[in-house]
Amino acid sequence: MWCCLNTSALDLQHLVPGHIQLFEPYTPSRPDHELMRAYGVDHLHRLNNNENPLGPPPAARKIISEFEPPRASVYPSGDCFDLRGILAARFGKNPDQFLVGNGSCEVIASVIKAFCEQGDNIVTADKTFAVYEWVAEFSGFEARLIPLLDHGFDPQAMLDAADEQTKIFFICNPNNPTGTYWDKDTMCAFLDQVDNRFIVVIDEAYFEYVDQADYPDGMDLMEKYPNVVVFRTFSKMYALAALRVGYLCAHQEMVDIIRRTHVVYSVNTLGQASAAAAMQNDQEFIQSTRDMVASARKLLISEFASLGLEYVSGQGNYLMVKTPVSDTLVYRKLARKGILVRTMTGFRFPGWIRISLVQQEVMEEFCGKFREVIAS
Ligand SMILES: *Cc1c(COP(=O)(O)O)cnc(C)c1O
Repeated sequence: MWCCLNTSALDLQHLVPGHIQLFEPYTPSRPDHELMRAYGVDHLHRLNNNENPLGPPPAARKIISEFEPPRASVYPSGDCFDLRGILAARFGKNPDQFLVGNGSCEVIASVIKAFCEQGDNIVTADKTFAVYEWVAEFSGFEARLIPLLDHGFDPQAMLDAADEQTKIFFICNPNNPTGTYWDKDTMCAFLDQVDNRFIVVIDEAYFEYVDQADYPDGMDLMEKYPNVVVFRTFSKMYALAALRVGYLCAHQEMVDIIRRTHVVYSVNTLGQASAAAAMQNDQEFIQSTRDMVASARKLLISEFASLGLEYVSGQGNYLMVKTPVSDTLVYRKLARKGILVRTMTGFRFPGWIRISLVQQEVMEEFCGKFREVIAS
């Protein structure tokens, strides 16, 4: 009887902490079937979430299709035992250096809970993956958001923003949504200056997409810099976003601390097994995904150049373009033609959209429909 529930006796003003009262909740997009109904289309190309449309690699597909329903009744490994063993072998680390979460979003929360207490702050960029900022703020900690410099993280300004109460830097490398990255020299110079005074999280969600020789591998960096925590995910390259598996890797002493704040059993059985399988002989799969992304990028760049539109393109499986009209209007008009893109107002880039880079046919369809939309 929701209609008659009497909440007047409930003093939420008193019960709810101020930082929660002020927090603006994030509204996830509606499911595809709802969007298709709302926009009157019978299909949707999802260019809004940087998913890999090729789907999971063959060995992971096999795990998913052979999953036996009775296994659903049994709790998963509480600490992803087998998956951590496979990660350790792959990256030449100890299994206890890995903490697996329900997507890497969950390990963001675990790190913040492990290191921040009242009055502390984290430092990141203003135009980056927003979950660092959200988790800090709804946990009652200040997020210091440093403006990008030439679309990239600004190392000096970030260092200048840190104080006694700073605990963690979050560096998205490459950055979502701009695709910029700190090269090895920039990253090492930054870490030298940090000099172990703070935790440095390097979010490498798009690691497997980067093929630049000067791109630093966080797994190597942590050997020299014990304050480094690396985040990776199976949601992007490995196309397992629905199964929610991400992880962090750091020095064992660090992980022993972070693990205290981490909910066990948060990663489901199918996710653990699929992630483990996804890494088997993944070279060919990664190469074909990278090839798809490279062709898509080439096509969109020439399209936007010929339309005279400003765009930002770097690493990762996405790029951004500045639209001549409002980003939400472009979003709606494209949705009515069966294409979803990401509006960038929420990323503090009003008037821009981000487009995931996918198969050639879909990119061509996008280009045709995008031209119609901006001509109308
Ligand atoms: C997509 C993404 C993630 C992670 O996602 P999960 O699905 O929670 O693993 C993390 N960081 C960045 C920058 C991303 O773009």
